[in-house]
Amino acid sequence: MTKMRGDVSCLICGRFLGVVERTDGHLRMVSPGSGGATPKMQGGTLRCSRCGGRAIVEESMDSLYAA
Ligand SMILES: [Zn+2]
Repeated sequence: MTKMRGDVSCLICGRFLGVVERTDGHLRMVSPGSGGATPKMQGGTLRCSRCGGRAIVEESMDSLYAA
């Protein structure tokens, strides 16, 4: 089982959308971001709930050790 954590941020508005945990290809929200913005899956891609822009997950080594 592979488990990774990552920070999700929006490429368009730059908002921090929260922290997600990925386990065997499944995404789960760990903690929400600031300003009520959340990532959402739409058409197979991760999108920002505020502006609808494309969101990306940045996996960090730090959180990998912490998990
Ligand atoms: Zn956005």
